Amino acid sequence: MAACQNDLSKFAEFAKFPFDPIQRAKRIECMVMRGSARSYYRTRFAPQFDCPVTVDSVGCCLQCAYCWNALRNETMKLGDFWEPEEIATKAVKIANKEKTWRFRVSGCEAILGRASTDHFCQFIEALQEAGKVEFVLLETNGIMLGYDESLVKSLSKFKDVLGVRVAIKGEDPQQFEKLSGAKASSFKYQLRSLELLYQHEVPSRPAIMSTFMDVLKISELTKIHHEDIDVERLKFYPITKKSLIERGCWDMRKVKA
Ligand code: SF4
Repeated sequence: MAACQNDLSKFAEFAKFPFDPIQRAKRIECMVMRGSARSYYRTRFAPQFDCPVTVDSVGCCLQCAYCWNALRNETMKLGDFWEPEEIATKAVKIANKEKTWRFRVSGCEAILGRASTDHFCQFIEALQEAGKVEFVLLETNGIMLGYDESLVKSLSKFKDVLGVRVAIKGEDPQQFEKLSGAKASSFKYQLRSLELLYQHEVPSRPAIMSTFMDVLKISELTKIHHEDIDVERLKFYPITKKSLIERGCWDMRKVKA
């Protein structure tokens, strides 16, 4: 196995757009994983979400122009490293206190390759051993799931409690490249992840930002009924607007208010 290049200077090559998200995922996975432990910077109860017991990690293979966690992900500000059982213990403590057994990982891309996927699967196993897990939500960009079917197979062992939400980043490869920073040619992995999740019977659905994408176009692209697509509107924090302007995405909004 190649030595892990986990210094920021090695990461700088991915600051140039467009980058290869598969290579970036490998590099980021090296930075956020230490053996079977992953870096997390926060655990919290977030009652505004359907799966409120939240553990926040860092690191993503995309660099979306509207990423709410861009400051941390672009500087790779790591937290402490926790084994799957350790982070599950922290999550279970919140679940017991708040009396809800619905979990999610946020702030990052949870699936960056084999090591991070095994970590995520062991996290679910540890949750199951600790109590009555109702649901675990995986919010992902689907890039690595579409690239490596074996990762989807690993997730399929948890299909009774797992739901996967694939955040689609464009109506076409060109819009994907502008919004995500990754090469247009890798858009296919997002779409492929939905096909593979379906084939392996893992409950899943696409999600889109209606600020940039039309739900009927995404429905046509994914062959998924528009009512089965999660539609969100972007929250425009000052930093989001600045980033969208700098990346040349501001005028890609459907409604130019
Ligand atoms: S996929 Fe999600 S975590 Fe990754 S850069 Fe985009 S918005 Fe941020």
